[in-house]
Amino acid sequence: MSKLSLPGLPDDLHIGNIYCIGRNYVEHVHELKNEVPGQPLVFLKPSSSIIKDGQAIILPPQSNNVHHEVEMVAVIGKSGKNIPQKNALKYIAGYAIGIDVTARDIQQKAKENSHPWSVAKGFDTFAPLGDVIPAVKLDDPQNIELQLAVNNKVRQSDNTKLMIFPVAELVHYLSTIFTLQPGDLIFTGTPKGVSPLQSGDNIKATLGDGLSQLNITVQ
Ligand code: ZN
Repeated sequence: MSKLSLPGLPDDLHIGNIYCIGRNYVEHVHELKNEVPGQPLVFLKPSSSIIKDGQAIILPPQSNNVHHEVEMVAVIGKSGKNIPQKNALKYIAGYAIGIDVTARDIQQKAKENSHPWSVAKGFDTFAPLGDVIPAVKLDDPQNIELQLAVNNKVRQSDNTKLMIFPVAELVHYLSTIFTLQPGDLIFTGTPKGVSPLQSGDNIKATLGDGLSQLNITVQ
């Protein structure tokens, strides 16, 4: 089990379910030629895919096209079901930068065959997660810059205000289906600019003004 280090929460808090939201930024929906969803598109990643700052993404032999997707990650701090949207942010203990690493060729085949995305999204090392910063340190989670650079070239740079479904709505929606529990993560979707990774790449991803950072290599 992967541990989280988060001030104000128990040291033994473990990462629980990893909920991910697809197609939550309009320009990213268009770059992959998808339709803008009418409600959040939810999938899950396994906790075995988590890596921390300083570790490496390992490109799996089953794919020839592995993409980065930089995302803000919300960490659930208390248990809840059917959480009203107006209270939803109170259930978030903190935020972090994350990368929803995706085997795009495997995902494309899955989409064509109406198969699930678990394989495309779930390989070991496919969920880099930066240090979690307490929610109180963010004035507004819907006005935070996300950036990802590969070999010092910026590939993704956008603001969380562009989300189709804001974080409070995601917490509400997920909680109508799943009981959210402390340590659960929500990867809130990626803005435009997703692109392939190569062995030897160096990735730097940041949330806000360096609030949460990831320095990751690719093997
Ligand atoms: Zn994603």
